[in-house]
Amino acid sequence: MSNIFDKLKSGAGKVAQEAKEAAQIKKIELDIGGLKKQIETQYHQLGEMTYQSSTNNTPLNPESANIISKVTNLFEQIRLKEEEIKKLNTDIVEPQTPAQAPLPSQKKVCTNCGKENDPNVKFCSECGTKLA
Ligand SMILES: [Zn+2]
Repeated sequence: MSNIFDKLKSGAGKVAQEAKEAAQIKKIELDIGGLKKQIETQYHQLGEMTYQSSTNNTPLNPESANIISKVTNLFEQIRLKEEEIKKLNTDIVEPQTPAQAPLPSQKKVCTNCGKENDPNVKFCSECGTKLA
């Protein structure tokens, strides 16, 4: 009897864990959206400075160098967050010998939007639906 309960518990635990991961991924995606907005703002300022320097025939505002390094920094933050998502969205796979490795062409097709996802991901990269 206790055996059945243990099984149920571990199954529920896995589901809860996956729901938690999906929520974490959603949150990181929101963060990335915010960072992209910041990049747009910086681009806008940079464009304005370039335009003014060109039309007024004045040297480019030295502040533009700061903006460029800010944008580089923002891109780096996005890259790190995308790596976090990748980690959350990847099943821990036991190391396999090449002979046992599954064919790389075995894509997981999303039941919700039809997107083909890599075989080792848990959630659709397009719509976030849990993949079988
Ligand atoms: Zn999908």
